[in-house]
Amino acid sequence: MGIVVAIDGPSGAGKSSTARAIALRASWSYLDTGALYRGATWLALRDKIVEPAQIVAALKNSPLKFDTDPAEPKLFAGDTDITSEIRSVAVTDHVSEVSAHPEVRKALLVLQQKLITGARRGIVVEGRDIGTVVAPDAALKIFLTADLSARALRRDRELAHTDSTSQVGEVEKSLHQRDITDSTRATSPLAMAPDAIAIDSTQLNLEETAERIWELLKERRLLGLPIVALLGRPNVGKSTLINRFLGRREAIVEDTPGVTRDRVTYECEWNGRDFMVMDTGGWESKPDGISIGVSLSAELAMKEADVLLLVVDSQVGALDEDDVLVQELRKMKKPIILIANKVDGPSEEAEAHGLWNLGLGEPHFVSALHGRGSGDLLDRIVEVLPEVGGAQVQDGYRRVALIGRPNVGKSSLLNILAGQNRSLVDDVAGTTRDPVDELIELGGSIWRFIDTAGIRRRANQQSGTDYYATLRTQIALERAEVAVVVLDASVPISEQDLRIITMVEEAGKALIIVMNKWDLVDEDRQISLDREIDRHLDQVEWAQRVNLAAKTGWHRDRLAPALRTALTSWEKRIPTSRLNSFLGTLIAATPPPVRGGKQPKIMYATQAGIAPPRFVIFATGFLESSYRRFIERRLREEFGFPGTPVQVAVRVRERE
Ligand code: C5P
Repeated sequence: MGIVVAIDGPSGAGKSSTARAIALRASWSYLDTGALYRGATWLALRDKIVEPAQIVAALKNSPLKFDTDPAEPKLFAGDTDITSEIRSVAVTDHVSEVSAHPEVRKALLVLQQKLITGARRGIVVEGRDIGTVVAPDAALKIFLTADLSARALRRDRELAHTDSTSQVGEVEKSLHQRDITDSTRATSPLAMAPDAIAIDSTQLNLEETAERIWELLKERRLLGLPIVALLGRPNVGKSTLINRFLGRREAIVEDTPGVTRDRVTYECEWNGRDFMVMDTGGWESKPDGISIGVSLSAELAMKEADVLLLVVDSQVGALDEDDVLVQELRKMKKPIILIANKVDGPSEEAEAHGLWNLGLGEPHFVSALHGRGSGDLLDRIVEVLPEVGGAQVQDGYRRVALIGRPNVGKSSLLNILAGQNRSLVDDVAGTTRDPVDELIELGGSIWRFIDTAGIRRRANQQSGTDYYATLRTQIALERAEVAVVVLDASVPISEQDLRIITMVEEAGKALIIVMNKWDLVDEDRQISLDREIDRHLDQVEWAQRVNLAAKTGWHRDRLAPALRTALTSWEKRIPTSRLNSFLGTLIAATPPPVRGGKQPKIMYATQAGIAPPRFVIFATGFLESSYRRFIERRLREEFGFPGTPVQVAVRVRERE
């Protein structure tokens, strides 16, 4: 099953257009679950039936079929195409009533889940209960809303009126009625999942809404990385070429379970583009013995890959075998790049020109061994890479690093969070797979706790305060989205605690400070702790703070909401128009201070990125750091960013 994106929300919020735009861009499937409820309603109207049992029977006799192609989604009842019929006023007027029947929902749930599991790379599913009921494990959940009047206006424009009179008033009434029915019904009402991202599209157009979701998919690495497969006869230099691609960077090696261990994938980066390179053992047209498996795995690689690289040994030239392989590659209808390897100089280059005969266009001359031409080749590869590929590298579980100095109670906290039934099988001493993650359910969703083996081990080692512990924390932080820094509330906040907090801030991750051992905090200690917090944690006033006792489990249920709040802030985006109207008011009231006799003018600001939120202010001159901090503080007051660092940069531009 591929990545599932759930988009829920009331009618007219723009779910369909947004969902289709995303699915099209990612080459994923698309499922409009509302269409299925409309299909059931159409059947009910056709057969003039109202009883849920009768509707379910009608669904059996004329099964609904949904074509998940986002370019042209279609709905059939039996063999009848009812794609446009289900948009009629009659269907719209009755659909909420029909969809409120639990029996009907149950019947359609099975169909929805079948369509979802059938999607190969990814699917965008829109409806009312996708994130809560249909696909509670969806990798990304969006709750799309808009003001009622804005939604009514959009719907009214969609309905091509035969007369020119607009019926916004009527549309608004009908939408409102449907909103009420849909959100108050007993079975799976319209509701926002606790881990969904809310997007208000009142002020956004389709492109902006889709871009916002795309940004989240990208930042969470849910868009599959493109796969580049290296193919060719045995011994043409494929592995050497891979080493060239990877440079000195350590490869992330992942054995693909399959026929042989010859299909190995490495993560690679060139000019800011990430992709996977798949090494294949070599392909032969008439394999025997061990090479049967190898050739088979090369064929699988061709199917999985997004870009095919054919490597030929230029010193041997193209053999009949290569011609056969070219035919195989062509069938895949994917970009193919021809590589002439072992070209060390101009004379070999002249010889290698013969490879034009393979009919794949210009051969790229490289010497994998000496590096000649490999940069140009990588440029070419990046040029033909699709934006989204078939290598799923993240599953959508939010990544949490649990960190803190030794003896603050990290491992007891982990234990109490994971519960009794946790399996400790990961923690096998002496295994080479060092970082061990644990999936833990908290507050209704599953979280990926990073490198939990490190937490347990460090707890047993009093000497863990060294360089390696810091390094390990650093690595865990790099992989994490949010850090939970555990402090021992019963003792004074230490230098080391503050260093760890600074590391989180500098890594730009969301932050939660857990004040552990709260059971040991008496009134006196609380007074001094408050003072320490004022003095030392002033810098990270924005952090989410949770007082907790890991030993007894007291307040452990506070962690999940704090994590969600922090991550929501971390990924928050402020629309440019709102940002600039806020800034305009702010500057008018408090202009930047004069510096060297000149008053710098602030022209405009934009949010350059999320995770964490980064703002860039364009000004005509240097802005004092105190003024920058003032802007940051006001930004936080205005828009609220609890739990995340916010970065504000100033770019100086000459006045136009
Ligand atoms: O999305 P659309 O407006 O076409 O949906 C039509 C109706 O189908 C909704 O008003 C709602 O009553 C129902 N529906 C539902 N659950 C879904 C999708 C749609 O109940 N997941």
